[in-house]
Amino acid sequence: MQEYVLYNDAVINRENAAIDMEDRGYLFGDGIYEVMFVYNGRPFAVQEHFTRFQNSARKLEMNQPFTNGQFAELTNELIEKNNIINGIVYIQMTRGKGPRNHLYERDAEAIVTGFAREMNPPKEAQVKGIRALLTEDIRWLRCDIKSLNLLGNTMAKRKAADYSCAEALMHRDGICTEGSSSNLFIVKNNVLQTHPANHYILNGITRQFVLDIVKELKLNVREEAFTIEELAGADEVFITSTTMEITPVVSIEGDIASEYKIGKVTRLLQEKLKEKIGALCHMK
Ligand code: PMP
Repeated sequence: MQEYVLYNDAVINRENAAIDMEDRGYLFGDGIYEVMFVYNGRPFAVQEHFTRFQNSARKLEMNQPFTNGQFAELTNELIEKNNIINGIVYIQMTRGKGPRNHLYERDAEAIVTGFAREMNPPKEAQVKGIRALLTEDIRWLRCDIKSLNLLGNTMAKRKAADYSCAEALMHRDGICTEGSSSNLFIVKNNVLQTHPANHYILNGITRQFVLDIVKELKLNVREEAFTIEELAGADEVFITSTTMEITPVVSIEGDIASEYKIGKVTRLLQEKLKEKIGALCHMK
């Protein structure tokens, strides 16, 4: 089947899309991206993803060519042309091409590319939970920017897989930050806790939805950093992300060794998030 991709402001045949060898995204990782989940042929939380895309662009002084409406329209076109029912849409923007030079120009013309892929919403991991590896956070100090530079994340994920773990949880000097591609929550005595949204973590869209749900349910929550000892002593641990939704963690190894039961707070939040997704994506 023909595959369609996004190239700047058009959805075109993949065979006709080409990236220059001196694109700054390719040379320097000088760019940003978003991943949205598609449920029932509809993208979830497009507005929220666009807002984060705009924020990342602003923080890197990149010119962002889209309005909210265009971003949503192009996302829908990618989904429709590729006949995606459940899957993801990936959109990235680089600072474009030019002779290789560390110095970037503020008026550089961005290049936007994107694709859509089929993917089933995660089921087994959400029911059974995952094993995670706790390891040092070696990333830079602007983790709030959803940048293409992901080597700290990919190295942590590789290490986790080598320990037969599905995710790497990271800490900086004993303070837990987040997962290699997810946010991290703990529950202790029915109080939820997650790292505040500052430059040490990416403010996940799923994290934001979970915090909204927590507030609607009037549960107690603290957006405050916690230590690896607090992680070890938690009653429940879960991660959140676009592709993993809310996934319980049942054991952690590496810099600590702990086992967890999948608790009622995690289960309640999973159910409520599913309801929200179902309502927003018109699922029965
Ligand atoms: N933190 C990192 C480092 C991530 O890569 C991701 C996935 N994009 C998240 C958190 C979760 O963000 P979201 O819920 O928006 O997918």
